[in-house]
Amino acid sequence: MTHRRYRVKYPVLPPGHYRFEVRARGQGGAWGPLLGFDLEVHPPWWGTVWGRLLDVLLLGAGVAGMVRWRARRLRRRNAELEALVLARTTEPGWARERVAQTEKLSAMGQLLARLSHEINNPLTAIHNNLTPVSEYFEQMNEVLRRYREWLGTRPEQAPEAERLWREEDLDFVLEDLPEALDSMRSASEGIRSIQADLRAFLRGERPQLIPDDLDEVVRDTAELVRRTLPAGVRLKVECGGVPRLLLHRGQLGQVLHNLVRNAVDAVGAEGEVRVQTAVREGGVELRVADSGPGVPVELRKRIFEPFFTTKDVGQGSRLGLAICRQIIEENHGGVFELDERVERGACFVVRLPLTPARNEPSEKHSSAVTHPTAGA
Ligand code: ADP
Repeated sequence: MTHRRYRVKYPVLPPGHYRFEVRARGQGGAWGPLLGFDLEVHPPWWGTVWGRLLDVLLLGAGVAGMVRWRARRLRRRNAELEALVLARTTEPGWARERVAQTEKLSAMGQLLARLSHEINNPLTAIHNNLTPVSEYFEQMNEVLRRYREWLGTRPEQAPEAERLWREEDLDFVLEDLPEALDSMRSASEGIRSIQADLRAFLRGERPQLIPDDLDEVVRDTAELVRRTLPAGVRLKVECGGVPRLLLHRGQLGQVLHNLVRNAVDAVGAEGEVRVQTAVREGGVELRVADSGPGVPVELRKRIFEPFFTTKDVGQGSRLGLAICRQIIEENHGGVFELDERVERGACFVVRLPLTPARNEPSEKHSSAVTHPTAGA
């Protein structure tokens, strides 16, 4: 009897029940009995019910994850779209507002351009005539003086000539006319300077500062205002001989004019307005004080707001102090305030640096301001 081992391989047997049978025979012998055994090939774990169940669960989880991811993406996209729609729906309003603002600015620009142009012709006429009128006046003055002398040699005519002279108040006329001409000249210079500013503004330039005499600006402006003062109001000017400093003559005149006008309004029919200049703490100080009732404590912060006023309709500019502050602080790098330590009346103080660091003018601009050319 031989013992031999045989090995059979079925590498790809699908799962199921099998019976393995074998029969043997010797050489030339008869076949032996059929021997066998049952066997079962199990499917792999993923082929089992649990495996398939797991598959289904994994698939379900995958689908659910996918659905959730897509839902989140949809929500995000929705939010983006909503934002876009919101932006689109509000855009026309914003655009309309911008268009309206631009139109307003352009209308204002046109108005300023027209104003600048319209001011120019009458102003040029006034300005150009001032010099000849002053000269004519000098000539007339000379002739009248000589007539008076000649009349001394013709005594019979003297009483009549003297009467006429007094009747026409020629002594006063001769004294007042040069002052009137001076104040007209200074007023027309003021308008010319505003016109130059307007043109500079339309060209997008800043008003230029040039070395100038503040005391002279004070005296000129005071002279201009003095002619319109009520009889009971005294205007005292005390100039402290301040050195030349960088300033815009027209704008400083405008500040002083506003302050003196406010002071005159405050004192009423009778009182005193005092304007002083002095060098103090390395800068120049200009004070405008009055003997009026002063500014009530509760209004002291508000008076510098544009359009704030306590005056009746038709009185005041509503912008006086706001413009003063802008001119002094923004354009001149100075300080403008109400001196709250003063016990009686109101006192406004302007402080200007003696050597401002910015806005140094070029020669070209200096001459444009001091001698503006005619023509808009
Ligand atoms: P407006 O002259 O049109 O009123 P302002 O800006 O020049 O505009 O002045 C604002 C307010 O400040 C005035 O209405 C007044 O109440 C107050 N004010 C200005 N100057 C004086 C002053 N010298 N004395 C008392 N109050 C003053």
